[in-house]
Amino acid sequence: MHVILMGAQGSGKGTQAAILEPRLNLVKIATGDLFRAEIFSGSPLGNELKAILGRGDLVPDELTTNVVRGRISALVADREAGNPVAGALFDGYPRTDVQARSLDTILDELGERLTTVIEIVVPRDTLVERLSGRRVCAECGKVFHIVSNPAPAGNVCDNCGGRVIQREDDMPGPIARRLALYDQQTAPLLDYYRNLGLLEQVDGDRPVDAVTSAILTIVERRLTASGTV
Ligand SMILES: [Zn+2]
Repeated sequence: MHVILMGAQGSGKGTQAAILEPRLNLVKIATGDLFRAEIFSGSPLGNELKAILGRGDLVPDELTTNVVRGRISALVADREAGNPVAGALFDGYPRTDVQARSLDTILDELGERLTTVIEIVVPRDTLVERLSGRRVCAECGKVFHIVSNPAPAGNVCDNCGGRVIQREDDMPGPIARRLALYDQQTAPLLDYYRNLGLLEQVDGDRPVDAVTSAILTIVERRLTASGTV
């Protein structure tokens, strides 16, 4: 079982990934984490990545593909060795349709296939509301939210006594621009998976539990349909 989770910033994708990973026995595959692990290992690939990221450059698709291939091969080997891992939960990867095609190739080579691609959909206004409620301590970086985790009275950080502020990035204008960029970048990817019949969309404008159950229902239905249960 391999599941891709998609969703804009503020859609609750990170929260759902953290819940689904243990529930479905999946291993989260996020390229940022993989790059850090590879660099930490000191491998030749890791050193190459370190140099690229150190220059502030984007990691070329081909390198990303190699890192992802390594991780999925290890996962499949683990499963074959009898470890109770069902598959991968892709979070933030693939990001482009080029990467999506590479992922298809990797899975094909390993005799694996995608179970489903789930996009958590939240109305634009709600996303802006959620994201613009973010507040940060200017001293220690502790994160607050005006609704779900308000800063103490007077906007004084309870961790360090610093001033709690709204960052420029968390103002409605910049947020709207980031969300527009997400739409623009993911539209081809959503089309790609829709054409393959793999795309499912889940209403993310609901409590966390309801979103989780909706995702679990979809995964179960997909597994039953493909006869892998
Ligand atoms: Zn602080």
